[in-house]
Amino acid sequence: MTKRLCLVAAIVLTAAGCSSPRDAASVLRDAQQAMGSVNSIQYSGTGMNAFFGQALTAGQEWPRRDMSSYTRTINYEQRSARDEMNFAQPTFGGQQQNTQVNGEKAWNVGPAGPAPQPPAVAEERQLGIWLTPHGFLKGAAASGNATLSGTEGASVISFTALGKYKVDGTIDAQNHVSKVETKIPNPVLGDTDLVATYSDYKDFSGVQFPTKILVEQGGFPLWDLTITSVTPNAALDLAVPEVVASASAPAVQTMSTKLANGVWHVTGGSHHSVVVEFSDYIAVVEAPLDEARSLAVIAEAKKLVPKKPLRYVLTTHHHFDHTGGLRTYVAEGATVMTHQSNVPYFEKTLAAPATISPDAQSKAAKMPMLQGVSGKDILTDGKQTIEVYATSGDTHTNEYTLVYLPGPRILIEGDAYSPGPPGAPVPPMPPPNAVALYDEVQKLKLNVATIAPIHGRGAVPMAEFTKFVGKK
Ligand SMILES: [Zn+2]
Repeated sequence: MTKRLCLVAAIVLTAAGCSSPRDAASVLRDAQQAMGSVNSIQYSGTGMNAFFGQALTAGQEWPRRDMSSYTRTINYEQRSARDEMNFAQPTFGGQQQNTQVNGEKAWNVGPAGPAPQPPAVAEERQLGIWLTPHGFLKGAAASGNATLSGTEGASVISFTALGKYKVDGTIDAQNHVSKVETKIPNPVLGDTDLVATYSDYKDFSGVQFPTKILVEQGGFPLWDLTITSVTPNAALDLAVPEVVASASAPAVQTMSTKLANGVWHVTGGSHHSVVVEFSDYIAVVEAPLDEARSLAVIAEAKKLVPKKPLRYVLTTHHHFDHTGGLRTYVAEGATVMTHQSNVPYFEKTLAAPATISPDAQSKAAKMPMLQGVSGKDILTDGKQTIEVYATSGDTHTNEYTLVYLPGPRILIEGDAYSPGPPGAPVPPMPPPNAVALYDEVQKLKLNVATIAPIHGRGAVPMAEFTKFVGKK
């Protein structure tokens, strides 16, 4: 703009100054200039990574897991990233974890080498790259669809990442990325808020990087990090391991084993279910993982018990890996029978929108029907009977229900006991939650003959469990 035009503009806009018009491109340019440009980055620190979906009580925060060290390395051009976590305590997945992504391929590196991860995990990790401060600026600039809203000093740049994630980033008065938010699909929660907050920016070799990172997912902290060192343009070349490149997503499989008249253990994956036939309907105990697993189990149930409606689905506890199929069952018209303490939570999640990855319930929009269990509840037709006992849980969850079939004397339980391979050695010290399960069964005076677990090799005689917990 010439001086003269500037003067005119200044008069017209009354002291608006003389700058180029604010648009998405200029805001991104200013931010990139202020924050410094990198092709790759490595940042390290300490903090915590929470166990998403594994709250002690439904609706409470995710359990925090402290890390003694954390390092993330990202190559923005390669769309690759590596996270190295050292947890302070032993945790599910190992005390040391190493997760990687390169484009559409994701894998974890453990003592047994690289383990391929499903496409949904790769997508989430890739999205994670575009949610970092520099990644956001690069992603928005490269998208060709960035738009500007907000106000000066709190500009909001929005773009669509990976074809379906609307990403909104806030740029503050210092031209730093202070917040990046999006929504991701989740089988339990539907559209799930994912919000990264960046603060306390410092200079690292000419590049500005936040020393405080807080990432919240589903309303509760997932990552809370204090960053102590940053290396701009750190080298990272993550070749996709051959075993990962050639891996195909495992097919959903079901196998069923008849445990008693009208009772089948449906296995074939990491989490099992139990199908129970009543005179007029079917009940399924446990709806784990996701819609794909649930559709397969429902199809199996209908094959085992033709021409009867699926009327009930029961849960052992609310953890997401055990309830990711509930929305599918609700869409099918089933009533959810669960611990009373889960009812307010599931009333919300079962009716939540799922627009990013639409599921059966987002189309059926059925009003969720829940039957909360406190104390004892039963389903019976006079011949077949299921007893459900609400317990106060253990160190894994503050609520679980024990599902017991008094006729064939079968107990169905979730994570407290998962039978290993035949002949596996009895642990020198039995796991406390297995002992708690044993004590609960004694307290309730359940005359169990067989345990049909949700995890593990399959149904086992009660005697094997008794030996496992060192009671006989
Ligand atoms: Zn669990």
